Amino acid sequence: MGTASLAMATSGASLLTSCAPAEKKIVTPSTELRLSFQEGTAPGASLNEKFDYMENLGIVGFEPGGWNLAERVNEFQQALSGRNIKVSAICAGFKGFILAEDPKVKAEFDSTMRDIIAAAGELGSTGVIMVPAFNSQTPCKPHTLETREYLCEQMHELGEYALKHNTTVILEPLNRREAHYLRLVSDAAAICRDSKSAGVKCMGDFWHMQEDTNDYAAFLSAGKEYLQHVHVASRGRRIMPGEDGELDNYVEGFRALKQMEYPYYVSFECGTKGDRNQTVKAAVELLRAQWEQA
Ligand code: MG
Repeated sequence: MGTASLAMATSGASLLTSCAPAEKKIVTPSTELRLSFQEGTAPGASLNEKFDYMENLGIVGFEPGGWNLAERVNEFQQALSGRNIKVSAICAGFKGFILAEDPKVKAEFDSTMRDIIAAAGELGSTGVIMVPAFNSQTPCKPHTLETREYLCEQMHELGEYALKHNTTVILEPLNRREAHYLRLVSDAAAICRDSKSAGVKCMGDFWHMQEDTNDYAAFLSAGKEYLQHVHVASRGRRIMPGEDGELDNYVEGFRALKQMEYPYYVSFECGTKGDRNQTVKAAVELLRAQWEQA
């Protein structure tokens, strides 16, 4: 979606188009659960062993960290060649942070983030995940209206840069123990809207979504226009889904994803307390069963 159509949609002009004759286009419902693993999720001594394991389980996405990504593009391209696995998203990896008070720290963010975005584009990634500021990152710009406007301006620039590289930047809300600034999926989606760039997207992480009161409403608040990625972990200790027993219920969130025909990935971001060979498979089975139930 381009900036012009985004402006139309946000001004309410899109309401008018609903009165026009329906466009005859064939829409393929994307109600399939596309699972993705980070580099450390699958057992295996090498990238190829991990990808073999993932293919056997029907895992179709891979989410590498962004650190040093430009130097790993060839390695990933070769290991993924001929496989039914694509790069889902890139998990951060930049230096500095976007809300840094210190211009040197901000400049470090700008240059390292842009390098990762360019490499993400080469890998066909849906986007690069970022957090505006962790609690531990200081000095940070104050939580004011001016800072939000600054963030939207900066995100606009990053989003436009990402679009030139055929990818996006994905804002990740965290729980309050890790980040005060951005804690709700709906808040992240509003920043996407106000950044006025189709290259600015957001995500939800089932682990962090303790701040959202309802998984279903949280995902729907971002909708298909802004929701670009999802992280999953157990909901008590951030280990494999299922390892925290009945706490690990994703049905309401999955119901929203199915309803909006979410076309992207649900990616594991978690450790395990058990035998990885067993807990990873059990987690995949659990998520598939809950997806069916949703
Ligand atoms: Mg996450």
